[in-house]
Amino acid sequence: MEPVLLVRYAEIHLKGLNRPYFERSLMKRISLALRPMPVKVVREQGRVFVFGVPAESMNEAADKLTRVFGIHSVSPALAVEKEWDEMVAGAKELVARRIEGLASASFKVIARRADKRFSMRSQDICRVMGGVLLEAFPQLRVDVHTPDFYVGVEVRQEQAFLFAEEKLGAGGMPVGTNGHAMLLISGGIDSPVAGHMIAKRGVQISAVHFYSYPYTSERAREKVIDLTRILASYAGNVSLYLVPFTDIQLTIYEKCPKSETTVLMRRLMMQIAERIAVSCGAQALVTGESIGQVASQTIESLTVTNDAVNLPVFRPLIGFDKEEIVDRAKAMGSYETSILPFEDCCTVFVPQHPVTRPKLDDIRRSEALVDFSEMIEQAIRDTERIDLE
Ligand code: ATP
Ligand code: MG
Repeated sequence: MEPVLLVRYAEIHLKGLNRPYFERSLMKRISLALRPMPVKVVREQGRVFVFGVPAESMNEAADKLTRVFGIHSVSPALAVEKEWDEMVAGAKELVARRIEGLASASFKVIARRADKRFSMRSQDICRVMGGVLLEAFPQLRVDVHTPDFYVGVEVRQEQAFLFAEEKLGAGGMPVGTNGHAMLLISGGIDSPVAGHMIAKRGVQISAVHFYSYPYTSERAREKVIDLTRILASYAGNVSLYLVPFTDIQLTIYEKCPKSETTVLMRRLMMQIAERIAVSCGAQALVTGESIGQVASQTIESLTVTNDAVNLPVFRPLIGFDKEEIVDRAKAMGSYETSILPFEDCCTVFVPQHPVTRPKLDDIRRSEALVDFSEMIEQAIRDTERIDLE
């Protein structure tokens, strides 16, 4: 009898020739998520099995896998010989653990017989196993419609697998199967959520953050690193690029019309983000903007920001209310960090009367008042990279 994690993935992504590619990517992501555990990940007929997790770490490992995109659900399971007595012993062990401390519970046995040579048919397995468990655990009763838990019996080619618990996974597609994007991450609530949503679609994420030391503090920078680490717990490795932005911001503030500083700053951020994206192979930019949330997120402002770059800009939160974004931030575990009170460079230099409907020609003209090219080069040269996982 050997502990194993049984991983189910969403069939919908598995059509045709992409299936082996998808499965291999998922297996790689699983190994990475469980490092440094010496696991062996194998696939068999629509399932992935993870062997080698120490028995005492099964729950922790299963929880880690619920964050890996591409997984529908995970069950801590037992792999046993295809001998009926072994299977019964395994099921009893799992059920005992599952109902520990409960006065009563309802269950249902579900069986899959992938190995058609196995002598019992699925419905017989359900019936006989159900009877054995009822006899062994007086507090159990059968409920075929809405049981408290399922006891699973899967008879496969080499072994049989048993489980009595199923943890829901994050869904989506394995990171790395859908390209690479550069997230503009601030210390706020929105951008980590935006990064999470794009990563969930299988996109590898890198991140870029602009800071304006000494107007923004060391603590603000640490906060962004912490947020990126939370994002990386879902997205796998994330490289974070930290760009010193003080000179550019001060120059905008001194040389350009005050009401346009926010829009200009955003254009310069986008240009630098695009340069870094191209140099590391990212194919799109991602921001946490949502339409109308603040002055710089009107349609006109977004148009002017888009104009600064050639790469596509993804804004997954565009149609969300703040409340919906907050719910997602809480669910992904970034909210508590995001609301720590450290300033962002966007908020340090906010003009009193920002333009809400900037005109592209006006903004281009204002930007042309200064030659930013050397400042951009310098900022890129001084950019620091931190790899988070
Ligand atoms: P967030 O909650 O993500 O900070 P926000 O609602 O505060 O968003 P803004 O401050 O206008 O909105 O920023 C809009 C988007 O611009 C952010 O979601 C983020 O993608 C990007 N951004 C803002 N500030 C920075 C920064 N200092 N470094 C990198 N990107 C930033
Ligand atoms: Mg912000």
